[in-house]
Amino acid sequence: MSTIYIGITIIIFLWILGSLHRNRKNRNKVICVVKSNCSGCGRCIKRCRRRILEMVKDETGIHAAVKYPKKCTACGDCLIKCKFNALKIIKRNSK
Ligand code: SF4
Ligand code: SF4
Repeated sequence: MSTIYIGITIIIFLWILGSLHRNRKNRNKVICVVKSNCSGCGRCIKRCRRRILEMVKDETGIHAAVKYPKKCTACGDCLIKCKFNALKIIKRNSK
């Protein structure tokens, strides 16, 4: 029984280490919306657990926009959901 607990503890520990490593690696990166490709489907907005993205309407139409860039961890979860190649991860301050 204790072997199971040790195994679970090791898995959790490795998962935490992996998360910390990913966050450190992505600290200088942020998500960016390519407005011209965005269909306004909203899939990326639903996917982001940190609520970084929002839907906006401007002269180019309805599209996703980055509302809180400082909170973005560049995890790429939203990017996977976009079928229109309208999201990319860039270096911060490099637009
Ligand atoms: S990269 Fe991650 S944190 Fe940033 S907007 Fe996308 S899902 Fe949210
Ligand atoms: S998933 Fe892609 S196309 Fe849909 S709103 Fe987000 S950026 Fe735009």
